[in-house]
Parts: sequence; structure tokens; C-alpha cells
Amino acid sequence: MALSPQIEGNREAIGGLNPKLFWENFAALNEHPRDSMHETPALDAIKDWAKMSGFDCKQDKVGNLCVHVPASEGVTAPPVIIQAHIDMVCVKTPESKHDFSKDPIELIKEKDYIKAKDTSLGADNLLGVAAAMAVAEDKTAIHPEMQILITIDEESDFTGAINLDVKTLGLTGRQLINLDTEFPSTLITASAAYCDIVGKLPCERESLQGNEGEYYELKLSGFTGGHSGLDIDKGRGSANMCLIRILQKLSEKGVKIISINGTGKSNSISPFASAEIFVPSHVNVYEINSFLEGEKIEFRRTLKDENDCPNENIKIELTKLDKDVIQNVGAITSEPKGKIFTALKNIPEGVIERSHAKETLGSPESSSNTGFIRVGNDAELKICARSYGDEETERIATGIVRALTEVGFIVELLSKGGSWVGDPNSLLSRTVLQTFERLDGDSGKVERVHGTLEISGIIERLKMALGGDFDAVSFGTTILDQHSTSERVPTADVERFYNHLCGVLEKLATQQ
Ligand SMILES: [Zn+2]
Repeated sequence: MALSPQIEGNREAIGGLNPKLFWENFAALNEHPRDSMHETPALDAIKDWAKMSGFDCKQDKVGNLCVHVPASEGVTAPPVIIQAHIDMVCVKTPESKHDFSKDPIELIKEKDYIKAKDTSLGADNLLGVAAAMAVAEDKTAIHPEMQILITIDEESDFTGAINLDVKTLGLTGRQLINLDTEFPSTLITASAAYCDIVGKLPCERESLQGNEGEYYELKLSGFTGGHSGLDIDKGRGSANMCLIRILQKLSEKGVKIISINGTGKSNSISPFASAEIFVPSHVNVYEINSFLEGEKIEFRRTLKDENDCPNENIKIELTKLDKDVIQNVGAITSEPKGKIFTALKNIPEGVIERSHAKETLGSPESSSNTGFIRVGNDAELKICARSYGDEETERIATGIVRALTEVGFIVELLSKGGSWVGDPNSLLSRTVLQTFERLDGDSGKVERVHGTLEISGIIERLKMALGGDFDAVSFGTTILDQHSTSERVPTADVERFYNHLCGVLEKLATQQ
């Protein structure tokens, strides 16, 4: 039996959509809060559903669930683990009064898409959870024993995957299907490792009292931004790093820096950044404006927007600030300023190396993103290094740490996650590709994701508990603008994804 949405509007939004079981679970689960590390209401709803449906459901100490679904009648194939995460990235519009600790997500059907009213949709990764639950209930589906593994806290710290208690959850499967990727008809066979680094530096300031000049805010906006892994090779450019380049040139002209606000997180490419500056009266403001105009033209020409075109939306604005408000703050002295510029010059930005292998030619092999820059009384930088090898990631991270410590930053490693490299020719991979071929008429794509999937952590825990080898894959379906208030899913792609999952399981049911 499916969970059913309680809210009239949600029932209406999914009315007539296929597969019905899937959409009912999707809408009903979306009515329960599930911010990272606050997933209990949604987990409880799944536990109730398992009980009502007669499935054994186990939970480990951190909250991960495993729903044990018996094989279809007569099927003796080995069990398969189907995995998805329950937590979502909670984002709302500035006007929204939505309270993610208690309010349900309200669904809206807009043409051929499902989205949420004023919030992110959380289709990442509810699509996976709801699909696995729907197969469990689907009387027409033929599948091996399914161990539906629902993890917590994927979106911030991988708490669920890292602390997975294999024994308590009763996991025994040696084939793992992760449903947490966003590309239609695409088999994912590898994900990158990452390492988050934070560096801090005290900043001495000098008084500007008595200096003749004006204060300005310098603002860079209109950059496309994006995921620091998945979008790193798209040439979108980081507003943070463009601002640093401009500030460095302005400093050479005699402009003083009061503060820098490079927005974002280490795992996102920064879409806007600003700084407060002091332009002494001996520096010609017209010259500065024409320099900024030149930089803007250059950025617009060389950086890409979401459609892969020169980015016409990039803006650089200089706005005069009220002297009385800001003049007591003082400027950063040249010593810390020089250190910040030197460190950022020595830290790689964007794609570091591209693949030379035939299958993955040109795709990013390793990358680094300075997603967060803030300079006030001290300076703080957050950088994320990524690569497909754990050792290579370590090597890049060590280089970044060195660049920071060399000039006096105090450095801390915030978090890291391992890489996963699967086998595109494994039985599970071939089964997925054959299913794409059978249902879509072509075998789809094989790709790697330059982000980190939970598979790496889960396989590690499975190996520790059970030993031996594991075969893993990931596939999913289109999610547009995920982690934003425009997050939406094309309903036709969802149906195709569900059929892929059923098809793969049916094929696995015939193996011995
Ligand atoms: Zn996800």
C-alpha cells in the first residue's frame, strides 16, 4: 500500500501522473520534514509504511533505514541493495515563510514538470527513495530480494554512509544500485573524492583617518555559479576569483581594501562577490571605471552562462558609500593583503587536469574551487579539492595546505570523502546498459561524476563488515536546478527512470 498525500493541493498536483505508486509516495514523503540531520519525521513515515506493507525494517544508531523486501515468487537470485538518501537541501525564496522543521513541501504541476511552491523540491534524492518504495509495492514488478537502504545526511556530511551499521541493518547484498544521480539514461561508474580545506589569517588594519578620498562598494554579479564538482568544467567562472583579480590590479593603482565578501560554500561556484574599497583622491575614478568596464567585457566574452554562451549577464558595479559610516573601519595593511593574494595565486582554481582516457576524454580529472572568501578583521578561505583517486586528491589538498601555510594561514581540514571507481563492464553495469537499450532503443551513456557519491563510503563499510567484492552502479533521472527554489523534474523522465529501475531488477531476478 502506498503512502498517500494528506494535502489536497499535493494530491491534485500528482493527479493522473504515472507511475501512480511512485508519485503517491513522492508527494506523501514530501509532507514530512527532512533537512539534513533532521530527517526523523520522514524516516518515521517510512517505518510506518514498511510496517503497514508487511516489510521488515531495520534502523541503525545514526538513523539509516533498511527495508527488507522479499524476492518475487520463484525468484532465487542474490539480494540487491537499492540505495538513496532521504535528506534534502532546504532552500526557500526570500519572501517565503516556509518552516523546514515542520511545514510540508507543497507541490505544483507546471506544464510537464513537478516543482515546489517557494522552496526546493527535494527530488534529490526523494526520486530514488520513492522509486524503490514503489517497486516494493508494485505487484507486477519482478525482482530479487531488495534491501532498500535509505541513508541520512548525504547533503552535508555523509554521516549516514560513513557510520553505516551493516550488521544492524541486516545488509547482505553484494550488488548496490545507487539512485542519486541526475542524468537521464546514464550509467555512472565512478565518482570523485573531495577534501574541504579552510584557512584563516589575522588581518592587521591601518587607519584611513585624514586620507583624502572616497569609499565604494565594488560588486560582481550575474555569474552562473553551480556545483563545484559537476559544473567545474563548464567555464562559468567564479565571481570570487574574478573579484580577487580585479582587487589585485586596483591595489597596484593605490586603491585600499576595507573588506571582501566572496559568497558561497566550498562546494559551489560563487555567483556573486563584493568588496568595500577606498579610492584615494590621487587615483582617478574615471580611469578605474574604464578599467572595470574592460574587465566586464573580458569576463562576458570568456565566461559561459548556463546555455554555454558568452555570459552577457555579468555585471561589475561601483557604488559610492557613506563616508561617515565606514571611515573608522580602516583598510587591510599591505602585509596580510599580499599574503592573501599570494596564497590565492598559488592555489589552483577550476579544472586542474583533464582525462586522457578514451572513454572519458577531456572530462575533468581533478579540480579545485575557492567557494568562500571573507576578509574583515581576519581572512577566511574555503577551498574544495576533487579528484578520482584518493591519493591524487590528497596530493592536491596538500599543495593547497602548503600554499596557505607558507604565507601564515592557520589551516584546518573540514571534511573529506573517498572516490569510487566501479567497473563499466561488470554484470550490474551491463545489466543497466542492456535495460536502457531494450527500453529506450539505445544503450544510453556511461559517465563519471566529478562529485562525491555515498557509494564510496557505503562500499567501505560493507567491505569492513562482510569482506569480499561488491559491484555498484548509479543511475537516476533529470533534476533541473537542484538545490534551488526552481528545482523541478520532467514527469516523462521520471516515468522512464522508474521503468529502467523495474527493468534492471527484472533482469537481475533471472541471474543465478
Ligand atoms: Zn543527492
